[in-house]
Amino acid sequence: MRAVQDIDEVLVVGDGPAGCAAAITCVLSGLRTTLVSGGARRCEFPESIHAGGIDLVHSLGVGDLSAAYAGPAFTEVAQRNGLAVEPNAGMQWPARNVRRDILDTLLLDRARASGVTIVTGRARSIAKEDSGIFRVEIEKNAQARRAAFVIDATGAAQWLRRQFKLPRQVLSVPLVCRRGLARREKDVGWSPGFYVEKDGWFWIAPTSPEIAVWTHVTTARQRSPQPLPDGFQAEGKAEQAARTWTLVDGVGGTNYAVVGDAAGYLDPASGDGVTLALQSGRNAAITAARILSRSEQPNAAAAAYSDWWYRRIAAKARSLGFFYATHGLASWMDTQPAGVGLGTQDVSAGAG
Ligand SMILES: Cc1cc2nc3c(=O)[nH]c(=O)nc-3n(C[C@H](O)[C@H](O)[C@H](O)COP(=O)(O)OP(=O)(O)OC[C@H]3O[C@@H](n4cnc5c(N)ncnc54)[C@H](O)[C@@H]3O)c2cc1C
Repeated sequence: MRAVQDIDEVLVVGDGPAGCAAAITCVLSGLRTTLVSGGARRCEFPESIHAGGIDLVHSLGVGDLSAAYAGPAFTEVAQRNGLAVEPNAGMQWPARNVRRDILDTLLLDRARASGVTIVTGRARSIAKEDSGIFRVEIEKNAQARRAAFVIDATGAAQWLRRQFKLPRQVLSVPLVCRRGLARREKDVGWSPGFYVEKDGWFWIAPTSPEIAVWTHVTTARQRSPQPLPDGFQAEGKAEQAARTWTLVDGVGGTNYAVVGDAAGYLDPASGDGVTLALQSGRNAAITAARILSRSEQPNAAAAAYSDWWYRRIAAKARSLGFFYATHGLASWMDTQPAGVGLGTQDVSAGAG
């Protein structure tokens, strides 16, 4: 027999920025909360996080982020375009490079300190009991957790979408992101740069006086890796991830919510993956608190969360799609977001 613990008010699955933001906001709202931490190795590459996202991390109670910063804060990005109208342009984008392994550890420590129970293991299956309580089986933990409300923050694994067979929209052709570090050669300018090329784009941002982090996005059909822009030498190993634009429909449902990349993602040019993960985690936790305290009609609260997420991603997809279309990358867009995604899904039959 697998041991079953007391019933949690909220069970958050996944320990990235979205899961930590959700769990911290839940306990601050007075909800008994457990977070399932998959314990996967954390990414050491710095990611560029918008100033608004850094403010959100502070608002969750992480006071000092200096250990996570890689390089100075910046406010402007140089844009170089080998193809289109403006060969050299700049855009205002206040941000900072942040080591994700350190940021994620600080957020998890903050969750623990604020009263979240952390259990290690990977969530496997979910079922809904007749009482309406969810039961989640956790691998290698000999435990099942029972909870009144479940928040899925499993990132690109999209655990709950697969469990509940939630519909999703695919909005781009298959894209691939590679990232790594680069050493600068003597006479290269040293501000963050976005380079649009024939088959994709490069993002390069300094993390120290000599080293920059780079990301390259292209279509999956483009098999051979592109050389770095002039003036940069690759340093160390690169890593690769599939990043086809995806939007999950009905991310707010009957006593569950899906947050961060688990609810959908574009590609890193959207510039707000971490910020949106934090925002959605916080908003889903507020939704859970309203539903569990019965201060709002459950379907209305869940639909409001779904609606917010859908509008946020659809607007971003349209503006990024327009940018690609005007920079020679129109073939990347598969379709426009369809006007679904509003309202809630009732999965009680499927999960029971
Ligand atoms: C190449 C690349 C570059 C990027 N650059 C940037 C950037 O510069 N700036 C930016 O803002 N964003 C960037 N992003 C996007 C950003 O990384 C994501 O949007 C962000 O990590 C989403 O956070 P999350 O909490 O939703 O998911 P994640 O950070 O992926 O966290 C999910 C966690 O859930 C765990 N998990 C998965 N399945 C289970 C399970 N069954 N049970 C328990 N735990 C589970 C995983 O191990 C993981 O720890 C980039 C992405 C890529 C691929």
